Amino acid sequence: AQQSVAILGGGISGLSAAYYLSKYSPMTKILLVEGSKRVGGWIRSQRVSPGFHASTPSAARADIDNILFEVGPRSLRPVGAGGAAILGMANDLKLQNEMLFVRKSDPSAKNRYIYYNDEINTLPNSLSSLLLNQPPVFKSVIRSILSEPFIGIGSGQDESLYSFVSRRFNDHVALNLVGAITHGIYAGDAKQLSVKSTMRMLYDAERTNGSVIKGMLSSKPLTPILSAEQDIINELTDPDITKTTSVFGFKNGTETLSIKLKHWLQQQPNVTIITDKQVRKIEKTADDNGIKVYSDEASVTVDHVISAIPSKKLDLLLTKKNSLVNLSTNPSVNVAVVNFAFEESVDLKYNGFGFLTPHPDSSYKLPVPGILGVVFDSNAMNGQESKQNSRLVKMTVMMGGHMWDATFGNARPGELDPQFAFKKASEALNVFLGITEKPKFSMTNILEECIPQYTLGHEHRLGELHRDIKHKYSHLLSVTGASYLGVSVPDCIKNSRLLVKDLLEKGALG
Ligand code: FAD
Repeated sequence: AQQSVAILGGGISGLSAAYYLSKYSPMTKILLVEGSKRVGGWIRSQRVSPGFHASTPSAARADIDNILFEVGPRSLRPVGAGGAAILGMANDLKLQNEMLFVRKSDPSAKNRYIYYNDEINTLPNSLSSLLLNQPPVFKSVIRSILSEPFIGIGSGQDESLYSFVSRRFNDHVALNLVGAITHGIYAGDAKQLSVKSTMRMLYDAERTNGSVIKGMLSSKPLTPILSAEQDIINELTDPDITKTTSVFGFKNGTETLSIKLKHWLQQQPNVTIITDKQVRKIEKTADDNGIKVYSDEASVTVDHVISAIPSKKLDLLLTKKNSLVNLSTNPSVNVAVVNFAFEESVDLKYNGFGFLTPHPDSSYKLPVPGILGVVFDSNAMNGQESKQNSRLVKMTVMMGGHMWDATFGNARPGELDPQFAFKKASEALNVFLGITEKPKFSMTNILEECIPQYTLGHEHRLGELHRDIKHKYSHLLSVTGASYLGVSVPDCIKNSRLLVKDLLEKGALG
């Protein structure tokens, strides 16, 4: 009989699961249920008119003289199987002409900054610049790099990023460099995040080469590539793209991809998309042969459920008897995102990607605490504006994350006044960059629990979760999404693809 699958959640993970399932198994009946009015999840690109906007309406508008602001993801990395998966998908969806590629030789790819010692520090991008021109944040870095190969190897137990890097390099590197990178990717705390689950290549380099530096100098990949991942990489039509491209994006923003996926899915006879209907409960049928999905006013029984919602949200849907372990162990952080566009007379002075900030335990204390970093969008993704707006100076201030309470006190995300966040971001631009002008366009969004944090022991807990799913739900349930194996958009796409392939190969569906 025809198999049926319900996919919970229409973020990029759920859309991708539906896409690959429909593509590889056109006979399977697919129902995608999204709780909000729109698909895309944290992917949200907005064209806005001049003035201040707080949490703007949902659908992206195409008015060309408005300015494009990204609420969530904005730059996508082409590397590895994730990069190959998203590039392949964009090709199949005929999005080539919508894309913007930032070359590795572009100033925004070469110049990345950390705010340290009350100034913008340019990170060295080559060996010679490392030797010749060390900014204050690089003090003691060369020494720690030279001694790292001689440090004994650790126990192999998972440890925090901070613990790993301070052990192999030093405290300064762990707080000011790795702490800053952790702000940029996870809005997270290097002291809480697992090295195994967030920067696997560091962990693997120590296990395989005895040293991170030796591992980086070796010609072998730091982390082994699974054969299923290699298959995705082999499909790349232009394998050189990872050599020449630093990041890529879309002329009309990242949401171009989720909108296109939605349109593609709507054209498939085997797919139904439902929006604005929260899933409230999922439960096995009495004979254990199906799984029942309860939404706001209806219920449907299917052969398999793919959950592509955050793991904490899945936890809420399960019956007590068949609850699963570890779904709510990892926290997620809140981030306040403020987009600005200034007149071209505002002099940014820096022709680079943007800056990040050190871990708050650094001996250097930021003059405006709670700032995770600032992206210089008009440098980082040039080509998204009309001629008239192309010289505007766009940037995004990201605040809060693991420092939310220290930054916004007791205000929960829903209670925080966007004007307050806007003022704080404006203060940051004044203090860090000397910008005092009023922006021509601005938008503020408060994102609640938007990035899951893979804390210590995450990988072990995932193993336990998968065993529990098998034990309690057998072939009826599987999970994908940013809660599990990577938060980046390319990783979400790749992991949904690998899941679908695995389910089909195991004969679990189709
Ligand atoms: P989500 O986007 O969270 O989607 C889950 C969906 O499920 C949502 O639409 C939600 O409404 C729905 N849902 C939840 N509960 C239910 C329910 N009970 N019933 C029905 N539906 C439900 N990545 C990059 O690669 N590059 C970047 O530059 C980048 N920048 C980022 C900047 C920010 C500010 C943020 C927040 C993230 C960024 N990321 C970036 C990460 C990336 O955007 C996300 O990790 C990714 O989009 C998550 O996708 P997802 O589908 O797994 O989850």
